[in-house]
Amino acid sequence: MYRIGIDLGGTKIELVLLDDKGVECYRQRIATPREYGMTLTALAELIRDAEQTIGQSASVGIGIPGVVSSRTGLVKNSNAIWLNGQPMDKDLGAILGREVRIANDANCFAVSEAVDGAGAGKKLVFGAILGTGCGAGIAINHKVHAGGNGIGGEWGHNPLPWMTADEFNSTQCFCGNVDCIETFVSGTGFVRHFRSLGGHADSGIEVVSLMKAGDVLAKAAFEQFIDRLARALAHVINLLDPDVIVLGGGVSNIELIYEYLPNLLPKYVVGGECDTLVVKNYHGASSGVRGAAWLWAPGEMTNLP
Ligand SMILES: [Zn+2]
Repeated sequence: MYRIGIDLGGTKIELVLLDDKGVECYRQRIATPREYGMTLTALAELIRDAEQTIGQSASVGIGIPGVVSSRTGLVKNSNAIWLNGQPMDKDLGAILGREVRIANDANCFAVSEAVDGAGAGKKLVFGAILGTGCGAGIAINHKVHAGGNGIGGEWGHNPLPWMTADEFNSTQCFCGNVDCIETFVSGTGFVRHFRSLGGHADSGIEVVSLMKAGDVLAKAAFEQFIDRLARALAHVINLLDPDVIVLGGGVSNIELIYEYLPNLLPKYVVGGECDTLVVKNYHGASSGVRGAAWLWAPGEMTNLP
């Protein structure tokens, strides 16, 4: 059986076609039309083109920067705002003549890494994408754990744990709350805090390079950042105790994170011991699109047209 995975973002749509072993046989990328009907048409054409290369139909899974509400069946929380309020899985399913699965893109990341990535062989995978923002997802036995409200994994908008007096009530988040984890441990948050100390850098990687070159401010910013990340992940461990935490996004390329975290986590994890693996993702930018394909497990799609 072939699987199509689609990563539907605000600016681009990426499609990948996987064979039953997970080997990529076809890939295509287009700009996202910023209108709902045109997005559906573009998706249907992309899928048709992919299927022509194999001469048969495939299952279709889509990762979106939002979720489908279990209450209404409509897309919500999407920053591709023209999808919000639309029954997208139903509408696309009607066009294609088959059931379509849609999940949050961070959940797709977790599933991809759980199936054949950095979390392969693990039962419970927590995936966190630390980039411009901070998205996270939970995969249990290779399946998305979306939860009754569809917000499973939305840890980035919990407040930063064990805040210091300086951190408390310090940072406004776009979501309307203050001091969200995202505002501290995303790449954007890391750089913003470095600048607030008086430093100049455009990315977390750059801050770390400066630190390695002996920059005192960069060292202070990194130490602050890594402690905040340890606190935020310790909360996840105390609640969920995943078998592995897989990091994605630009911040995941900071190799020092994997050196520092194992020493810091036990400070905050209940009982003072922590063996949780924290690792870098395996599939990189392809995790979202591959995870979308894996929304259909073997044998689940039985009525392809
Ligand atoms: Zn927030």
